[in-house]
This record gives sequence, structure tokens and C-alpha cells, in this order.
Amino acid sequence: MAPESDTIFRPDLLAGQVALITGGGSGIGLGISELLASLGMHVVIASRKPEHFDVARDQLLAQGLSVSSIALDVRDQERVRTVIDQVSQQHGRLDLLVNNAAGNFYAPSATLSPNAWKAVVEIDLYGTFHCSQAVYPIMKQQGGGRIVSTSMTLHYRGWPQMAHATAAKAGVDALTRTLAVEWAPERIRVNAIAPGPIPTEGVRKAFTPLPDSGIPDVFAAATERMEQYARDRIPLGRWGTPRDVANMVAFLASPGGDWITGAIFVIDGGEWLAKS
Ligand code: NAP
Repeated sequence: MAPESDTIFRPDLLAGQVALITGGGSGIGLGISELLASLGMHVVIASRKPEHFDVARDQLLAQGLSVSSIALDVRDQERVRTVIDQVSQQHGRLDLLVNNAAGNFYAPSATLSPNAWKAVVEIDLYGTFHCSQAVYPIMKQQGGGRIVSTSMTLHYRGWPQMAHATAAKAGVDALTRTLAVEWAPERIRVNAIAPGPIPTEGVRKAFTPLPDSGIPDVFAAATERMEQYARDRIPLGRWGTPRDVANMVAFLASPGGDWITGAIFVIDGGEWLAKS
């Protein structure tokens, strides 16, 4: 596998552009922040916790990249509007929104509390809508822009104890297609990415099954067993990396993505088809 510092893209591919990445300070979001900034974009990382957004910002600044960070809870629609207006005023534009923030955990549907359901649906689905709606007038006014939302593949087949997240991400898919058609006249391209299993810290926590649930704790397994799982269950024989996903976001943000809207790109080494 190529080192994460390598890129297939021209280093100035996205020079002069501005991106806002929700949850851009950890896991997949951090991989997206790093690649886009290394292609010349100014990246704004927005999430709730300074230990994510500030630490990631400092890490990328130390690499000489153009990055800033801001506190944001995507469930708070007023705050979303304020932050997005502030970013566009400060930089004079906003070319790309990456809706990457999400929450997740295993919980049996029969006893899922209203608050647990609400928390996940509010982050994954409402948050995606709040941010997309807030960038619309800015992108319309500047003659276009790009939105890339983060979905998943678990709702293609049903996944026990993930009713909240699978329902929310199915909503993200629907929203992607609808906004793509509705906002195409403004030249706003709206697409989604659907990653397969990528062992980030966040997903390791989320995918710790409840005791006696019968669900395999694949991420907690020893490295050797994890590698065996990937060989057995992922047709391309390995786990994904944040860079695998970031590459697609960079492509969609580039002129290569000019005629692409309403698409949902599965990036999973063939995993969901093999297990469907
Ligand atoms: P992660 O590191 O836990 O990323 C989630 C991010 O969302 C964190 O940076 C978190 O930052 C942010 N966030 C959570 N709640 C938020 C809120 N209310 N407002 C703003 N930001 C919030 O996990 P990941 O694995 O990289 O996941 C990233 C995305 O990929 C998610 O959309 C996830 O559903 C999707 N995905 C991941 C996988 C996988 O295998 N890893 C597979 C399919 C889909 P703060 O805590 O600082 O807010």
C-alpha cells in the first residue's frame, strides 16, 4: 500500500479553494482534511471537541498546510448557520462542504431509548441537512459548489442493533439524490460516499457489541485475527484506510467531478456485496 503522504493528485489541484469538513479532526474526516489541504485547499475543521479539532489543526499546520478549526455541534441549526456564514465571510467563498460528522453505537431496537435514537439521527441526518441548507445560499451566490455527505453500506442489507444509524444514513442517501436534482440549476453538485469497514478509533468504540449479542467483535480482535477477517470477508483482502475515502472526495471536489451529482460511491473493497 502507498504511504498516506503519497497522492495521485497534482499538488495544486484545489489551490485557492475553501472546504468545511464536519468531524474533520479524527478518523476518516482527518484523512479527508489532510488530503484536501495537501492539494492546496484551505480546510476548516468543525466539530465539538477541541481534542479533535484543535489537535488535528495543529498537526496539519505543522505539516505546512492551510487549516483552521472551529467548535460546532451539527445538531444546533443556529450555530451551523453562524459558523458557515463566518467561514464564508472570512475566506470570501466556500467551495466544498463535507458532511462527515456522525455518532454510532450498538443498541437493541426493542429497548433503544428515544434519546439514543434522537442523538444519532440528529447528528447523522439532521446535521447533514442543517449544514447543506446553510451552504446553499453561499454556493448559489458564488455560482456553484460541492457537497459530499458520508453514508455507509450497512443499510443495504440490514444490520442488527443499528436501527438508528442505518435509518439515518438511508436518509442521507435520499437527501443526496433529492438535493442533487433540486440544486443542480445552481451548479451545486451533491454526492455521497459510502465507506466500508475502516478501523478508526471512533468505529472501534461504536462497533463494540453488547455482551451475549452474538455479534463478532471484529475490531477488538488481535491484529492477526483482524487481518484474517479481512482476508476472509473483504473481497479485496484488506481493511480500508481514511485515504481510500479521501481520494474519492478529492476527485469529486476537482474538475473531474463536474458532471457528477446525486451519486453515492461505495468504497469498501467489495465487502457489502460479498456479505449481502
Ligand atoms: P470518528 O472518528 O468517530 O468520526 C466522527 C466525527 O464526527 C468525530 O470527529 C466527531 O468529532 C464528529 N462529531 C460527532 N458528533 C458531532 C456533532 N454533534 N457535531 C459535530 N461533529 C460531530 O469515526 P469515523 O470512523 O472516522 O467516521 C467518519 C464518518 O464515516 C461517519 O460519518 C461514519 O458514519 C462514516 N463511516 C465510517 C465507517 C468506518 O468503518 N469507519 C464505515 C461507514 C461509514 P467531535 O467528537 O469532536 O464532535
